[in-house]
Amino acid sequence: MPGTLGAKERWVATGSIGALILGMFVGEVLHRQGAMGVVSGFSVAGDLMLVRPLMMLVLPLIFTSVVAGITSLGDPSRLGRLGISTSAYFLATMLVAAALGATLVTLVGPGLGLSPQDVSALKSSGIERFEAAPKLTQAASEGGQGLTYAWLQIARQMLPSNPFAAMAEGQPLGMIMFAIVLGVALALSGDVGDPAVRVLNGINEALLRAVGWVLWIIPVGAFLLVSASVGKVGLVQLLGPLGLYMSVVIGGLVIHMFIVLPVFQAVLGGGNPYRFMWNMREALATAFATASSSATLPVTIRVCETEGGCSQRATRFCAPLGATLNMDGTALYEAVAVVFLFQLYGVQLSFGELAVVVATATLAAVGAAGIPSAGLVTMVIVITAVNASLGSEKLPVGAMGIVIGVDRLLDMCRTTVNVWGDMGAARVMTRIAPD
Ligand code: ASP
Repeated sequence: MPGTLGAKERWVATGSIGALILGMFVGEVLHRQGAMGVVSGFSVAGDLMLVRPLMMLVLPLIFTSVVAGITSLGDPSRLGRLGISTSAYFLATMLVAAALGATLVTLVGPGLGLSPQDVSALKSSGIERFEAAPKLTQAASEGGQGLTYAWLQIARQMLPSNPFAAMAEGQPLGMIMFAIVLGVALALSGDVGDPAVRVLNGINEALLRAVGWVLWIIPVGAFLLVSASVGKVGLVQLLGPLGLYMSVVIGGLVIHMFIVLPVFQAVLGGGNPYRFMWNMREALATAFATASSSATLPVTIRVCETEGGCSQRATRFCAPLGATLNMDGTALYEAVAVVFLFQLYGVQLSFGELAVVVATATLAAVGAAGIPSAGLVTMVIVITAVNASLGSEKLPVGAMGIVIGVDRLLDMCRTTVNVWGDMGAARVMTRIAPD
């Protein structure tokens, strides 16, 4: 039921927005003072207070939520309809996001007007940063194996040979698929399966109660994490040579969050999307502070069901899947970043190549995990595909290093849009799967 949170919890929801604003301000002051010791302390404290407690709950919550959501649907044909509609919604919104990003970056051209000195400084420092980032170099060597390999990786994650290993390795996709299979089987098992369903439902409710405890920490945790992230890099970056690039990413995310997705929601789900957004502020603030859709997922599920008026069935199906697969912000970001890098390397992409960017940015977003910087790692898929369509390696994969330094700030913004996209899906799918 919407609006059933108590007065104190509403205060927490409002406090989390205040925490973001205060965190940005304090972070910028710390950056200017060079107080890196305080910044590290804030980062550690924020991780311990908010990120870890949420991450501790997320995997069991995903499993029990998906099983509970599916068994409550009953009839598997309803699951089919929900599954197809949700996938179509995810795909459509991500493609629109990537197309919006590709259009904006092409129109604005943030990589075109820079001085030759700035360009060569960016290129050499970028390659150095890339070589110092083992995750990226590893992704580059895997990504060089092309699109088929990227698809295969996603398929392998979807069909884990050992669901417990997938869980232990923190790969939610395999666990979700296992939970779907188990949920459908339990739904078809009738009375025999009832005790198992009741146990899993009971655990799910208990976990959601535990999420309620963590909610109290959001304002403080969000303040610490945002101060630490801004403190590390400083908002002053927005004025540097990467400033226009960052503005295009942030501008695109703002358009997608405040115009495109609300239109999708209003047309397909009904209701006032901005009121819904305001009611979801706790989860959006958590996404911004943690830069992780996975860490935010417990909050997403809870607020969608309590404040957002989304059905349990739709939320418990769409939110876990969305946190893993549906990343509008990441798709937009990948498109902008890759076209920007090609511009820096003097390559203007044709319409056909931009279409490759849009399609592969969507794939890269689907493949990205819901953790910080995951979108940066999967960007190699997009660069490799565009190079292949150009017929030569016009953009070295190592150029990704150019955007590493400013990634955290953009990650916070795109994760907020990712989570907002998942909530919109839960809201729209509530029409198909009401409680
Ligand atoms: N941090 C993002 C998320 O968790 C993924 C990305 O890096 O784009 O949704």
